[in-house]
Amino acid sequence: MVNKNDYIQKKKDLEQKFLVECENTHRKWCFTCRRPKKNCLCQHMEPFDTHVKIILLMHPKEAKKQRVGTGRMTAAILKNSEVIMGVDFTDSNEFNQYLDKSKYLPLLLYPGDSAFNLSESKITDWKYKEEYRKRIPVIFVLDGTWPCAKKMIKLSKNLRELPRICFSNSKPSEFVIKHQPHEDCLSTIESVHLLLNELNESGLESFDKKHDNLIYVFKKLVEFQLKCSQDPDMPSYRGKKRGLDQNKAKVRYKTHRSFFLKEDWVPDNPTGHKKKK
Ligand SMILES: [Zn+2]
Repeated sequence: MVNKNDYIQKKKDLEQKFLVECENTHRKWCFTCRRPKKNCLCQHMEPFDTHVKIILLMHPKEAKKQRVGTGRMTAAILKNSEVIMGVDFTDSNEFNQYLDKSKYLPLLLYPGDSAFNLSESKITDWKYKEEYRKRIPVIFVLDGTWPCAKKMIKLSKNLRELPRICFSNSKPSEFVIKHQPHEDCLSTIESVHLLLNELNESGLESFDKKHDNLIYVFKKLVEFQLKCSQDPDMPSYRGKKRGLDQNKAKVRYKTHRSFFLKEDWVPDNPTGHKKKK
């Protein structure tokens, strides 16, 4: 039998230990850019406003990659943004509220045959150009790897049914610290920067060059991570032989399968949910 007083004391000790740990985390961690305070990037951020609301749909796996994930940083810089975490958004009230078409114009940033390509088409040809001004445009951006994003779309019928927009990218990612599955793959912050750039160029948005702050902060992150990868005292040291080419993203070619979900994809079962085995 455990002595009652011993038990109470032990419980108190554990609570105390927990409080100290919380206190330490708070002291060491910046909750705005979700990075350790000593490498906090907030000092470089210049938050700005947009007409469009950017919603980052964050895959839980992405949320764990606090050190190199760029979604949280993007949200910290964009005043009119939000992060919704999840994989299947079918029953998400947080998500579904934006499907109210009397108020919002919900759009998905994702390639597809019907996707309106902001870089290659004239904005006057876009069927939603008027609605963009009349309603509150909401652009959902998938924050996760391509396979993760594919899964999110497969599971969420409401996401699949949204009108799509996309852009063309000729520049490889500068995210040298992460492996990209394809040359066209950009980090979340780079994608949002390019998207905003296209919207700005087309005249749908007007924030001058303020959106370039996204790239500025991103470059600071890359600079820092490169420094760590070359510092033998850091846990992320990659060794001399595995040193990174500073000018090129590490690309692993996966040409044998499409890295995005095509629009004509239909689920095996109508709900879009995975069948239980
Ligand atoms: Zn910070």
